[in-house]
Amino acid sequence: MSSPVWHPFTQHGLEPQMLPISRAEGAWLEASDGQRIFDGISSWWVITHGHRHPKIVRAIQEQADKLDQVVFAGFTHEPAETVARELIKIAPSGLAHVFFSDSGSTAVEVALKMALGYWRNTGQKRTRILALEHAYHGDTVGTMSAGARGVFNAAYAPLLFDVERIPYPAAGREQLTFDALDKACRSGDTAAFILEPLILGAGGMLIYDAATLAEMRRICSAYGVLFIADEVMTGFGRTGTLFASEQAHISPDILCVAKGITGGSIPLAATLCSEAIYAAHLSEDRARTFFHSSSYTGNAIACAAAVANLEIWRTEPVRERIAALAAAQEQCLEGLEGDPHFANGRQIGTITAVELTGRAGGYLDNVALSLRSKLLARGVLLRPLGNTVYVMPPYCATADELKSVYEKLAEAVDEVSA
Ligand code: PLP
Repeated sequence: MSSPVWHPFTQHGLEPQMLPISRAEGAWLEASDGQRIFDGISSWWVITHGHRHPKIVRAIQEQADKLDQVVFAGFTHEPAETVARELIKIAPSGLAHVFFSDSGSTAVEVALKMALGYWRNTGQKRTRILALEHAYHGDTVGTMSAGARGVFNAAYAPLLFDVERIPYPAAGREQLTFDALDKACRSGDTAAFILEPLILGAGGMLIYDAATLAEMRRICSAYGVLFIADEVMTGFGRTGTLFASEQAHISPDILCVAKGITGGSIPLAATLCSEAIYAAHLSEDRARTFFHSSSYTGNAIACAAAVANLEIWRTEPVRERIAALAAAQEQCLEGLEGDPHFANGRQIGTITAVELTGRAGGYLDNVALSLRSKLLARGVLLRPLGNTVYVMPPYCATADELKSVYEKLAEAVDEVSA
């Protein structure tokens, strides 16, 4: 019988069957028929420590027994207060307030609205948004506007607002980026620059260095342009540090986090901002309110999961696990060197990416689909972005598990190339 469910980013005409999953533990998923599948993409980059970390599971159960949900306007609760306090402690300095929402996209929408609200409330006509070429910030209308234009959003173009595109800082071409950014910031009507620090994820796992990130931050500061770091993917350890911004020793004016904030267990997102941005909205004039909410803002169960996640970061050797995973990833990537099917291997922290050679590329390249099914048949979940294959496992993945993933990847690529 056909299912009424319409799945995300899925062409049902090419993929009529979805694989039913019934359990998950650590780095593994278990299908209803008992097949074990290694979760090589951390279930869309959300799972950090591993599936069903016992402390997070317990926190969810205990919170569900006490308070599930309460309207977050006019009310608060301890889990939300604790998450906000703890986030401020560990986030780059200068971030003073936390606004909760429920996905990476909403965290970014909130950030863009905060930036515009700041300039309006301080009486300056700054409305222009700058964003990086190849960026991805989500799939809502505002985040699609900030993201790169292409096949993903062509149909919705009439809904999207204009942003000024700053060239991606490819190695050796950083000066182009700096010059374009400087020119755009100089214009005086620029409100904010939004970017993914150190690695552009869905745009193709494009990595740039910390010095470049620091210079982009410096240029924005010089002109008072608000700097928005979208750490929805990079946050909570993926790039080797808790936040990618740390590696450039920068503090954004606004920081977006989601995915790993609950260890990947349950939806929650947060947008952190500077005191100045909060203060610009603080008034006895209701017209200066930050007009944003969603029904589940600050959901108590999600916040309890986040409290447990932050405690895991404080009390378990998470950084050591990340370092070990990064080292294992490096070794596996080296193992692909010399294989003519792969080119441009690259890594940042726990993430590796590689291009398949001999393909025209592009997201619609069917190689992604056939590779995915060949890998799945071998018990590995990877989701190539066109001809870019990346591996982003949970931090509990072992060196042996990874070795097997890369062996199966090489086999599967051999088969699709034959
Ligand atoms: N921003 C970045 C950098 C992302 O990678 C993503 C999702 O992958 C998002 C925003 C959107 O997050 P969500 O899918 O939770 O809305």
